[in-house]
Amino acid sequence: MKKYISYKNLINLLNVLAQDYQVFVPTEAKNGRFYKKYSADCGKIVIGEVRAVEPLKSFFLPGRERVAEDFKPDLPQKDDRKPYAVVGVKACDLKGFKVQDYVFKDHDFEDPFYNKARQNNLIISADCTCCLESCFCIALNLKPYPQESFDINLSQVDAGFVVETGTQRGENIVKENFSLFEDAQDYMISERNQQREKVTGEIKANIKTQDIPQESLYQGIIGKNYQSVLWQDEAKACVECGACNTICPTCHCFLLYDQKDKGKMMRLRIWDSCMIKDFARVAGGANPRERLWMRLRNRFEKKFDYFPKVSGIYACTGCGRCIAACPAKIDIRKVLKRLVDGR
Ligand code: SF4
Ligand code: SF4
Repeated sequence: MKKYISYKNLINLLNVLAQDYQVFVPTEAKNGRFYKKYSADCGKIVIGEVRAVEPLKSFFLPGRERVAEDFKPDLPQKDDRKPYAVVGVKACDLKGFKVQDYVFKDHDFEDPFYNKARQNNLIISADCTCCLESCFCIALNLKPYPQESFDINLSQVDAGFVVETGTQRGENIVKENFSLFEDAQDYMISERNQQREKVTGEIKANIKTQDIPQESLYQGIIGKNYQSVLWQDEAKACVECGACNTICPTCHCFLLYDQKDKGKMMRLRIWDSCMIKDFARVAGGANPRERLWMRLRNRFEKKFDYFPKVSGIYACTGCGRCIAACPAKIDIRKVLKRLVDGR
């Protein structure tokens, strides 16, 4: 039986969770929705609507992170901060977990920092209740409502949310706080289903209007266009800022550097960008991707050729963040269309 929680009781639940977690909620701002640490005065909380501006990876692979001190390798164990509970996470960001998990958790190497954060986190996801012009998740075979990788999912209906649990941890939270929940009525489930159909229709309309190709057409598109002039053409306006990488929920490349701070040696990890010239430069000075268009091609190759070859998934969720962030207005949807059409 699915549950229902009123908005008022959700706030009560967040207060309970804040005892064990650092709770983050999406909040309203003029230029989008941004995560803020939950508190009584954190601003207007927006659970439904669309994805936040920041990608979910910011919590699990922070933009700048201390990974060693005085070259001792045991920092993650010493970290006694509360784990994250991230609320209102959308389906496109949950797909980002698949890519990040493949790189940092489920493959050859297990990253202790990422793993610690992933093991202890709580994800309370939410259905999208509308879409942005740049949303194209359905072209990547995603739905605008979470189907996996959440502990608890909230679907906004009338004055509250239909609640679904996805893990034992989520189930336990509902059981431990049972007085905040009630059984979801049939009319609430139908309202949720109608809402899901409405948003699905809106994104499909986006895809149709903008003629965005479906994932089923992506196989081999990079190899087919490897020598195409489209790379030079698309890269003309690029200013090499790296925003498309840093804002992307699936991009995961990082750089390690050492820094002395208050007499201690620190090793820090920061996000890196494959669009930046020095990204692939080696110690002798040689650079296999000397030209900007080569780096743009590499970005697409990694997402739509290399990653599906090694992991079986495309490293894109259709979240549209790179479209919104690019000052040069380079649009991944248009590049995909050109690649599929071979022009
Ligand atoms: S490549 Fe762009 S649309 Fe795809 S997941 Fe990254 S930011 Fe989102
Ligand atoms: S965001 Fe746009 S301008 Fe910046 S590096 Fe990416 S493609 Fe180039």
